[in-house]
Amino acid sequence: MRILSDLHIHTSASPCCHDKEQTIENITEATKNMGLKKIGFADHVWVSDMYKPSGFYNKQSGEEHLKLKEIAQSRDWGIEVLVGCEADMIAPGKFGITDDFKRQMDYVLLSSDHFHMKDFVEQPENSDSRTLGRHMLKFFISAAESGMGDILAHPFFPYGFIDMYDTAMASISDAELFDACAVAAAKNTGIEINPCYLPNAAKNRFFSIETPVRFLAIAKEAGCKFTFGSDAHGIKELEAVKDFQYFIDALGLQAKDIHDMANIADQN
Ligand SMILES: [Zn+2]
Ligand SMILES: [Zn+2]
Repeated sequence: MRILSDLHIHTSASPCCHDKEQTIENITEATKNMGLKKIGFADHVWVSDMYKPSGFYNKQSGEEHLKLKEIAQSRDWGIEVLVGCEADMIAPGKFGITDDFKRQMDYVLLSSDHFHMKDFVEQPENSDSRTLGRHMLKFFISAAESGMGDILAHPFFPYGFIDMYDTAMASISDAELFDACAVAAAKNTGIEINPCYLPNAAKNRFFSIETPVRFLAIAKEAGCKFTFGSDAHGIKELEAVKDFQYFIDALGLQAKDIHDMANIADQN
C-alpha cells in the first residue's frame, strides 16, 4: 500500500511555524511532486466559550483557518485540499473547540497529549510511569468519546514526558489499550500515524520503536482506522510521510485500514 495523503500540515498561520515558505502554493507543489493525492491543513486553534486560551493559543481563534479555507476553495490545486484544524484539550471533557467551529472545518484533528504545555494542560499528579500512563488513558478516552475530533493527532505520545514514553506505555496493559481504542473505533475516530512515533536522535527522542508499534497494532485489532500526518511545519518536513512505510509494513496495513477522511477514490 502506498501513502497518498497527508492530513496534518501546518502553514505559516501557525505561530510555531517559522517557515515563511510554508504557503498553500509551495505545499501543494511539493506534495504533488511526492505523488500524494490528498492533503489537509491543520493549524492550531483554540475556540471555546468556556475555557480561556493560553498565550500560545491567544491569536489562534479560527480566523486564519476560515481565510485559508476560502483560498483553498478558490481554485483547483491539482491535488485534493482539505482545510481543518488541530484542536486541543486542557483536561478530560474540556476542549478548545465548539460544534459550531467544527462544522466550518473540513475535519478536526484533536490532540489529547500536549502535556508540554505545563501551565495550560492538566499535568499528571506525580512523575511515576503508571501515573502518566493512566493520565494518557484518561485524556485519550475522553477525546475519543467526545466526537470533537474526526482524527486523534499523535495519540498516546506524551509530549513533555518523552523520556518516560516507553515506561508509561509499558504500564498500560494490552486490555486497557484495547478498550480505549475500541472507544475510538466505535466513534469512527481515526488514529493518526505521526513522525513522533519514530525515534529521532536529532530531536533527542530515544525510545523503542516497539512502543508505538504495540499501540498501533492494538488499535488496529480494536478496529481503528488510520490516517497519515507529517505534522510538517516546513517544506522539508513534508518528506516525513515516506518514513511511515515502516508502520505500514510492521502493521500490515491495507486500504481497508485507512480512515474515510484519508481515503482517495481510486485507492487500492
Ligand atoms: Zn500536536
Ligand atoms: Zn501539529
